Amino acid sequence: MPEPTPVLPEVLAQIRALPASSRPLIICDVDEVVLHLIAHLEDYLHARELQFLQHQYRLTGNIGRQGDSQPLAAEDVRRLLLSFFDDVSHRQDMVPGAAAALNDLAETWDIVLLTNLPGGHNKPAREKLLGGMGIGFPVLTNSGPKGGAVAALAAGRPAPVVFIDDSPTNHSSVNASLPAALQIQFIADPRFRATMKAADHIDLLTGDWQETAVFIGDNLP
Ligand SMILES: [Mg+2]
Repeated sequence: MPEPTPVLPEVLAQIRALPASSRPLIICDVDEVVLHLIAHLEDYLHARELQFLQHQYRLTGNIGRQGDSQPLAAEDVRRLLLSFFDDVSHRQDMVPGAAAALNDLAETWDIVLLTNLPGGHNKPAREKLLGGMGIGFPVLTNSGPKGGAVAALAAGRPAPVVFIDDSPTNHSSVNASLPAALQIQFIADPRFRATMKAADHIDLLTGDWQETAVFIGDNLP
């Protein structure tokens, strides 16, 4: 189990800029939760004669040339992802039902979108895309594990704070920093969801926004 991580100063500054509120809070990731990611990344890889080597939840070590089982080097994957986000941030498709579910939940809950989006210049494109879909909630950008940011966001809020994210690394980090969080692992892509074994701290593993909204409603503070 990982150690709790501190919130980054640049993330804390974004948290402090939010309006004060004592309403219950949902902290929701964007990629593969609100916006499709894996489907776009797969198109991007195929156009470059690359592919996922396995439908497994990691990028480094899991992207290679078509017809070759050798993974690309970590530095090549890092550069590929940066150019991918520059290409796709303004045009990702919404995961079906996300806007309707989040807007219904927003009648009772505050909602903050916490995203690890590479390239700070891509944030305005993402905010504009989400706003055009009717998803007008604050977007906070983080890098690395999310536990510190989630604990800082939860301070002063009634329990439970809800955390929705696809990444097992982020969920482990939140479990270390805020074990009382209600943790929903949301993976839109059915192939990657099928290979995910939910950790003990995951309260719901899903790829369905209706199921997510019902589950959260059943856990009202
Ligand atoms: Mg994500």
